[in-house]
Amino acid sequence: MTRLASKTEPRFSDALFDASNKPLDVLKQVYGYSAFRGKQQQVVEHVVAGGDAVALFPTGAGKSLCFQVPALCRKGVGIVVSPLIALMRDQVEALKQLGVRAAALNSSLSRDEFFAVRDAISSGTLDLLYVTPERIVTDGFRELIGKADIALFAIDEAHCVSQWGHDFRPEYRDLGRLAEEFPGVPRIALTATADPHTRDDIIERLGLDGAEVFTTSFDRPNISYEIVERDQPRQQLLRFLSGHKGNSGIVYCLSRAKVEETAEWLNGQGVRALAYHAGMDRAVRDANQDAFLKEEELCLVATVAFGMGIDKPNVRYVAHLDLPGSVEAYYQETGRAGRDGLPSEVWMAYGMADVIQRRRMIDEGGAADDIKRIERGKLNALLAICETASCRRQAILAHFGEAHAGRCGNCDTCLKPVETWDGTEEAIKALAAIYRTGERFGAAHVIDVLMGSVNEKTERFGHVEMPVFGAGKDLPARTWQSVFRQLLAMGLIRTDHSAFGALKLEPEARAVFKHERQVLFRKDRPASERRGKKVERSERRSVLSGADGIVFEALRSERASIARELGVPPYVVFPDTTLIAFATERPETHQQMLAIQGVGQTKLQRFGDAFLSVLRQHRG
Ligand code: ADP
Ligand code: ZN
Repeated sequence: MTRLASKTEPRFSDALFDASNKPLDVLKQVYGYSAFRGKQQQVVEHVVAGGDAVALFPTGAGKSLCFQVPALCRKGVGIVVSPLIALMRDQVEALKQLGVRAAALNSSLSRDEFFAVRDAISSGTLDLLYVTPERIVTDGFRELIGKADIALFAIDEAHCVSQWGHDFRPEYRDLGRLAEEFPGVPRIALTATADPHTRDDIIERLGLDGAEVFTTSFDRPNISYEIVERDQPRQQLLRFLSGHKGNSGIVYCLSRAKVEETAEWLNGQGVRALAYHAGMDRAVRDANQDAFLKEEELCLVATVAFGMGIDKPNVRYVAHLDLPGSVEAYYQETGRAGRDGLPSEVWMAYGMADVIQRRRMIDEGGAADDIKRIERGKLNALLAICETASCRRQAILAHFGEAHAGRCGNCDTCLKPVETWDGTEEAIKALAAIYRTGERFGAAHVIDVLMGSVNEKTERFGHVEMPVFGAGKDLPARTWQSVFRQLLAMGLIRTDHSAFGALKLEPEARAVFKHERQVLFRKDRPASERRGKKVERSERRSVLSGADGIVFEALRSERASIARELGVPPYVVFPDTTLIAFATERPETHQQMLAIQGVGQTKLQRFGDAFLSVLRQHRG
C-alpha cells in the first residue's frame, strides 16, 4: 500500500468507508457533494444491488460517480476498463486526492509498481483498478485478480465497441466475455454518444441485453453555440478568443499543416497556443497535452486526433476553423467544453470551401458507394445545422431524436435572430447561370457571369453574350457567394472534383426551375455586425467581478502552486466551481468549508487550511 500512496496521502488505517456504507454517505464524505444529480442515484442504487446497467449521459452529467460510488459501497475492487492510459492516469490521480485507494494497470508501470498493485489486489486494499481492454481479457489478468472479490466491472467510453462511432477499438469486442467469466459481478457500460446505432451495438456486443438502460437529455445548456460565415478566419478567431483571456480551450483544424500554422500564428498574436496532431513526435505531443491539462490559460490547436478522454472540466471554449465530419463529431468535439457545468462557448467559422472540401474527401475517399452515400447524408445533416435560421440547439438535439422547444436563448440564432429571404428567383438565376455555361465552371466564374463582369475568361468563353450575363447585377457578389454556399448545403447543386470543382445541378434543382419549390435563404450578417458581436458576448459571460473576482484569482494562484507541487492538474485539487463557491461564500471554518460542493473529508484535511488562509488574507 505504501508504494501506491503519494507523499501527501493521509494515513488512513484501512479505508475511508466500508462495504456497509450508503451511497449518499460516500457522496458526501468522499466527494463533498450534497446530492446526486439527474439519474445518478438510480444508476448507483441499481448497480449497488447487483444489476447491470447502461448509462447514456452527455459529457459533464457525472458518469464517473455512477461506477465509483457503487464500487465503494460494494465489497471488493471495482474494475474499470478505460481506453486510454492518459485518461486512467488522470482519474486515478483525482481519486487518490479524494482518499480513494485507486491504481491503474498498464504498460507504463515499473516492475515495483506492478507488484504493489498486485499486492493491494490480493490483500483487498484497493477500491478501484483501471485497466486497458486488451489486458482485462488475458490469462495473466485472470491470475492477478485470482480469488479477489470484484465489486463491479465498469466499461467506460463504451462506444469504442461500435464501428459506427469514430473511436472504434476492436479490443472492446472481447469484453462481451466478462459476462460468462464473471457471473454475478454487475457490469455497467457508460458513454456520452447519443446515436441509437451505437447504443444498440453496445448492448449487443457487450452482452448487456438484460441491463437496465438509463438515458438523460443530451442537451448541454451551459454551452452556447455560434456558427459564423467565414470571411477572414484568423481575424474572426482572434476576436472570438479575445473574449477568453485567462481561459483554456481547443481550436480544431482539419489538417496537420493548418494546426501548426494556426498555433504559430496565435503565438505571434500573443495567445499562448500549442499544437497537437497525430503526425507529431510522440514526446512533444504528450508534453503539449500535459500542458493543456495543467495550465490555466492555453489554447490547444488540434486535429480530431485530440479529444477522447479529455477530462479537463474547465475547457471554456471550443472553436472549429473547419467543418467537422458529421453532427455526431460536432457534438462530441464541442461537448468537450464546459464539463464542469459553467458557461462555455463553442464557435465555428464555416464557408463554401468547407462544403467543397468535405464533399471531395468523401467522393475521392476509398469507401464503398453505400458508405459514401451515408457520409454524404451525414455531411448534409451538419450543413443543415450550419444554415438553419432557427435555434441551433433545437436542430442539434433533433438530430439525436430529442425534441426541444427551441428559442434556447443561448445560441447565436436565438440571441440574434437571422432573417430569411425568399430567394426563389435568385436561385433560378444561379441555377440557370450554371446550366447555361455548361456546368463546367466553379462558383467564382459563375458569379462573374451573373454580375456581368467583363474579363478575359467571360469574354473568351463567349459568356458576355449570354442572356444570364449581368442578370444578377442588382445584388453584391457577397450575396451571390452566400446563395451558392446555401444551394450547395441544400443539395441543389454539387461540385464535380473530377472537373476541377465545376458546379453541377442536382436532380432536385428541377423543382426550383419549374417554380414548384420555394427557396428560403438565410441573410448573412453584414461584416460590421459580425465584428461587433463578439464583444457583446464576452460581456454577457458570467465571470466573478469586483472583490469576489480578486479573491477568486488569489485562490486560483494558491491552487496552481499546490498543483505544481503535487504534479497534478489544478482541477484535481479543486474544480473551478468549488473555488467560485469559496470566493462568494467565504467560509471561515472547516465546518463551513465542508458544506461547499466538492469539499470532502480528505481534501479538507489536505488543502482546507491553505485555502482558508488565502481567504483570511482577503477578509475585509
Ligand atoms: P462525465 O464523465 O459524465 O462527462 P464527470 O463524471 O467527469 O462527467 O463529472 C463532471 C463534473 O461534475 C465533475 O467535475 C464531477 O465532479 C461533477 N459532479 C458529478 N456528479 C456530481 C454531483 N452529484 N454533484 C456535484 N458535482 C458533481
Ligand atoms: Zn437557440
